[in-house]
Amino acid sequence: MRIVLIGPPGAGKGTQARVLAGRLSVPAISSGDLFRAETSRGSALGELIKRHTEAGELVPDELTTTIVTRRLHEPDAGGGFLLDGFPRTVRQAELLAQALEEDKTVLDAVIALDLPDDEIVQRLTGRRMCQACGMAVHTVFSPPRVPGRCDGCAGALVRRADDTEETVLRRLAVYAEQTVPLLRWYADRELLLPVDAKGAVPEVSDRMRAALAAVTR
Ligand code: ADP
Ligand code: ZN
Repeated sequence: MRIVLIGPPGAGKGTQARVLAGRLSVPAISSGDLFRAETSRGSALGELIKRHTEAGELVPDELTTTIVTRRLHEPDAGGGFLLDGFPRTVRQAELLAQALEEDKTVLDAVIALDLPDDEIVQRLTGRRMCQACGMAVHTVFSPPRVPGRCDGCAGALVRRADDTEETVLRRLAVYAEQTVPLLRWYADRELLLPVDAKGAVPEVSDRMRAALAAVTR
């Protein structure tokens, strides 16, 4: 299965991508994770990426698409993938469609998570990420057993540089301007499955599974 997961920052894309990818036995590929990996290498490319991500702005479309499609061509993604956070502009979606066409394949579905803005700000400003395994927790909604340590791997929990209130508000505005038009684009292609992202992680996972089951049989 080839699936795209779209949603505003904080809707739980990363968490849900892991759950669903595990269930489908395909890799979860996150553009944000690919960027953070490049940034932590401290390369010139990483520095360029950082200028955009830390301002809450999007990384340019062509560069983003190059980095993601390179990952899509690794062998583990040959049988399917779950894309998290890419595409997030109509231009990126066009470039992805082209790349898939060259590979003689197509997307099966696009899941769009939906969450109101006030809940997003609450979720993101309390979010902490495991530096080692990337798992997300929330200081109030899902606190770790040992403060500051990941439940899964005991790695250090840190706040992402772009999870400050100011940057979160900018990311929301960018989502409304640049990503919301993409929802219509995929709806026109009969790929869009809207899913309510409110509630606990398993509830949202179940909704996603039901939405997919209805189109894939
Ligand atoms: P979130 O969805 O919570 O904002 P991500 O980890 O998906 O977090 O992305 C972090 C940042 O990386 C974004 O705010 C943006 O700057 C950049 N980014 C991620 N995916 C893309 C993309 N497809 N196109 C452009 N920039 C992106
Ligand atoms: Zn961890």
